Amino acid sequence: MRTKSLKWMMGISLAAMAIGVLTGCGTTKQPVPISPSSSNATSTTALSPKIKVVAAENFYGEVAQAVGGDRVAVTSILANPAQDPHDYEPTADASKAVADAQVIVYTGIGYDDWMDKLLNADSSAKTKEVVVVGSDLLGKAAGDNPHVWYDPSTMPKLANKLADDLSKLDPDHSQDYQKRAKDYVATMAQLAAKVAKIKQSTPVTIDVSEPVFDYMGDALNLKVNDPKFAKAVEEGNDPTASDFANVQNDIKNKKIKLFVYNTQTDSPTVENIVKLAETNGIPIVKVTETEPTGKNYIQWMSEQLDQVGKVFGIQ
Ligand SMILES: [Zn+2]
Repeated sequence: MRTKSLKWMMGISLAAMAIGVLTGCGTTKQPVPISPSSSNATSTTALSPKIKVVAAENFYGEVAQAVGGDRVAVTSILANPAQDPHDYEPTADASKAVADAQVIVYTGIGYDDWMDKLLNADSSAKTKEVVVVGSDLLGKAAGDNPHVWYDPSTMPKLANKLADDLSKLDPDHSQDYQKRAKDYVATMAQLAAKVAKIKQSTPVTIDVSEPVFDYMGDALNLKVNDPKFAKAVEEGNDPTASDFANVQNDIKNKKIKLFVYNTQTDSPTVENIVKLAETNGIPIVKVTETEPTGKNYIQWMSEQLDQVGKVFGIQ
């Protein structure tokens, strides 16, 4: 009996609430609710004003964290190696993170168009420090190979740029940012040393499944024999019969020293080529487009470089 009357009372109050909501909708201006969560967020910010950084790709997020230290809160949007970044559509969480951020880092030059769209739709975008790595740091344009993080000069440039941008937002800690950037650039020297050690004195012919590794390949003096095959795979298309035949012939005739295979996408055409390379004794260098879980940039790049070094008998 008591339960029943309670239900009845709840029914009345729910009905009253519904009327209240309807009345609210009829007014010209909605009152802004002051919820406990929004006041908490404000006080947290006041106590610990970390700079919010959003990196479109996790390898840039790592640099931002290294340079910003405990002064930054970094969100990396593309961080799942099982996902093909070319097919990415931003989630509501990603859109919100971008809207809330003070610093944005992304590749640009057509690689992560979704970030251009989010920033274009964001009225606060002009107040953010935005680093477009491909164009701002490497002078590339749309249509150029977008996998610029494979260029060994990119991360040192980004570290220095972020130190400057964070210093603008937080001048009191400028020396910390500059110091950490310098330290990060210093750790990159071991990568440069490895590249120098493996670099070939005369160009070596290779083929690749996608143009992911090409900037590193350039640094090592490796020349892709059929870039059109890789470009088609990259764009999600089937390579033409003649490009497919070219790569097959490169393998069968041992014209290439190695084949670079991006394991982050699955294409039956590429799988066929990889099998053919294996049966013909052509070494496969396995690479990924984004940073694998549990590895930092140097470890990731070093392991890929070691595979190339092994082909040339360089350890
Ligand atoms: Zn790609």
